[in-house]
Amino acid sequence: MTAVPMIELRNVSRRFEKKLDFAGKLAKKIGVPVREEVVHAVDGVDLSVMKGEVVGLVGESGCGKSTLGRMVAGIMPASGGQVFREGVEVNTLSGAAARHAKLRTQMIFQDPYASLNPRLRVQDIVGEAPLFHGLTDRNGQSDYVDDQMRRAGLDPAFKRRYPHQFSGGQRQRIGIARALAVQPDFLVCDEAVAALDVSIQAQVLNLFMRLRAELDLTYLFISHDLGVVEHLSDRVVIMYLGRVVEEAPSEEVFARANHPYTQSLLAAVPRIEARKKVFNVVKGEIPSPLDPPPGCHFHPRCPHAMDICRVERPVLRQIAPNHRSACHLNDVA
Ligand code: SF4
Repeated sequence: MTAVPMIELRNVSRRFEKKLDFAGKLAKKIGVPVREEVVHAVDGVDLSVMKGEVVGLVGESGCGKSTLGRMVAGIMPASGGQVFREGVEVNTLSGAAARHAKLRTQMIFQDPYASLNPRLRVQDIVGEAPLFHGLTDRNGQSDYVDDQMRRAGLDPAFKRRYPHQFSGGQRQRIGIARALAVQPDFLVCDEAVAALDVSIQAQVLNLFMRLRAELDLTYLFISHDLGVVEHLSDRVVIMYLGRVVEEAPSEEVFARANHPYTQSLLAAVPRIEARKKVFNVVKGEIPSPLDPPPGCHFHPRCPHAMDICRVERPVLRQIAPNHRSACHLNDVA
């Protein structure tokens, strides 16, 4: 019997319509045909995360990984496709079941300061949602908050302070305490350590791993930096311009990256000197998602691009056990 994934995305897409400027609006008003531009931020993605797994989702800024994370966390609807939680399509849930599913997936953001209400004390930031959802009562709220703070590595003695009275690393811990306070089983961490100093990054990453063991958590860990997810992730998924281009167990990606884009990202991990000699660092800017290149989106930057790459989208297919890649090179005998 195959296990049911905790989260499964089937052919999920997210489109954004670019707002018309003044001239465009005027032209539309007087009946001149105007082409409305659509960004395909996420384009037909299949993804699954098993219970207890840590999946690293990696790509450059603008590749759609944050949009994908928001859809997984249920804070942004998909434009197309289906999102399942433990085999149940989330769109079919309503009322208490929908609220419960939403609570069980929490998101940790890059900038804890922006995601914490500056006018609330930590005790309210952490304690409000569990009180609202009946996970504690007024009498138990204070102790409940203390427990969440301790678990996130914060001293409860500071719970009457405001977010600006904490360092960046501590603020991220407040964000983690707030997320854990509603007893989730799945965390979506979106560049959760990107804004922190390297030494603090390591501490927060260790905290995530300790919490994983303590609370049996599952993670989708989004980062632009393969180096950050290397030691954290069981499996790594690489995205480029809205599409998944490679997916494999973490050690497989680091030992045998198949897709030229993944190889370029690996070359950008500065401390892996040996790899620098093998791969070329990715060149050029990521193209605009408003006008993505045809065929393989990566072809204008790919050192191995062939004629077929400019016209035909490569299919994400299995190239080894548990290893999928979307590159026409795999079709060349
Ligand atoms: Fe490069 Fe072609 Fe593979 Fe795309 S499909 S990564 S352009 S070789």
